[in-house]
Amino acid sequence: MDILTDITARRAALAPDATAFHIVETGETLSYAALDRRSACAASLLAAEGIDAGDRVAILCRNRVEFFEILFACAKLGAILVPLNWRMPASELDGLVEDCTPKLIVFGDEDRETAAVLARTHSLASLDLETGYAGRRDALEPHAGRTAWPGGEPWYLIYTSGTTGRPKGVIQTYRMALVNAINIGQAIGLRPGDATLNFLPLFHTAGINLHTLPVLINGGKVHILPGFDPAATLALIDAGELDVFIGVPAVYRELTLHPDFETTELTRLRHWSCGGAPLPDVLVETMARKGALVCNGFGMTETGPTAFLSDEANALRKIGSVGKAQVLVEARVAGPDGRALPPGETGEIQFFGPGLTPGYWQRPEETAALFTPDGWLKSGDLGRFDDEGYCYVAGRIKEMYISGGENVYPAEVENVLSLHPAVQEAAVAGVPDEKWGEVGCAHIILRQGRSADAKTLSDWCRERLAAYKVPRHFRFTDDLPRTAAGKVQKHLLPVPEALT
Ligand code: ATP
Repeated sequence: MDILTDITARRAALAPDATAFHIVETGETLSYAALDRRSACAASLLAAEGIDAGDRVAILCRNRVEFFEILFACAKLGAILVPLNWRMPASELDGLVEDCTPKLIVFGDEDRETAAVLARTHSLASLDLETGYAGRRDALEPHAGRTAWPGGEPWYLIYTSGTTGRPKGVIQTYRMALVNAINIGQAIGLRPGDATLNFLPLFHTAGINLHTLPVLINGGKVHILPGFDPAATLALIDAGELDVFIGVPAVYRELTLHPDFETTELTRLRHWSCGGAPLPDVLVETMARKGALVCNGFGMTETGPTAFLSDEANALRKIGSVGKAQVLVEARVAGPDGRALPPGETGEIQFFGPGLTPGYWQRPEETAALFTPDGWLKSGDLGRFDDEGYCYVAGRIKEMYISGGENVYPAEVENVLSLHPAVQEAAVAGVPDEKWGEVGCAHIILRQGRSADAKTLSDWCRERLAAYKVPRHFRFTDDLPRTAAGKVQKHLLPVPEALT
């Protein structure tokens, strides 16, 4: 059976004084020796709270180093951490808590009230990160802990946002952490000492499995921000403090729009990658103009997440692609009969390999539905390979719409709209239409100081796209509904008044 060693203990043995975390706001640093000791003492604290192997520990906090102490404490004990989405009110979190039945809820200051309601409603013990935690942790002897973490065991759960029904807890195993560290580590050439930035919310996979675990396994340094801050990020880049930046399109957009963007020396940073949502070409081009080649990648919570990643040498030649499947993951594009399709043909993207989730927490039916009969994980996304093995993602099956009998993939239309100089961001969704069945509705955020009307944008699309892909409706707005990781929540986009 494959196992993961106790990462913090091994790193503390290898290079005790190397920096594991740097807290950007306070300047405080934490060495690997301190991280290991704190995690082992936190394990003693959890044990004192009655946490045993297999128990769930819920956590509700912003990005902070104590989150990772507790994550490693859970590993040392065999407990399962459940990061809760702090954007959800207690009423929405009730279902998640009922689903995973934790024994304890750990919380930070910002989420004190929500945690109190959940603790009361579900009779949970609670642990306050602001008061008591550090004092109690440091008063305890380090827990002897487990030195081997079994590959197939759940380490933590990441709940889906519930866009497609009840939120499901995607099981994240130790093996997934290991395989993902190899997939991303070799793809971007992670080296000991490499510094990355942790800023995406920790109830999504990226903050744990992209920003942190691969870097710690490789002996690097994690700068930690409570949330994304473009000014602080650009300052760290300019100061040469970051080697690797892993973002989502929404944060790349924010970086490129920030007043400090033009004066920041982006080439001080070695590797840029982006994933989680369609990456408009215009963002890749804007970054490339300043010497930063952004590698587009595709990942899912269920795939650990790294699945496809582009390479710098081809980031521009293959713009629009998510690159090739990484070393420990197989990918195929399957037709409706489940058979692999040849390059050029569009079908569902499916994955196979050691780094996939074993399934959803206590949901045998949904878990069974996630896999094909021959064991491939169904992404729910459409795409195609080119002759060189580069994958082009067309979009989610459920977001594709059919206009006059033709399939329309919103990401393609959004990409064309984003190239218009007046457009900052575009989100396209299908809406009912008497004549065509469905037509596109484009929700547009204009750049500050720029203007464009529906006719201008419609003409722009008409010059670049087949007529059936040109949105029939344009809605101008200041904001779009988003997840905490910046993804547009298409199901929450309003239907234009004219249609209701
Ligand atoms: P939830 O499951 O929480 O409702 P979600 O489906 O966005 O939300 P995630 O695991 O966070 O779940 O994201 C995976 C999805 O993100 C993929 O299935 C795909 O639709 C999209 N995605 C990821 N990377 C890319 C990319 N580079 N280009 C286009 N889409 C992407």
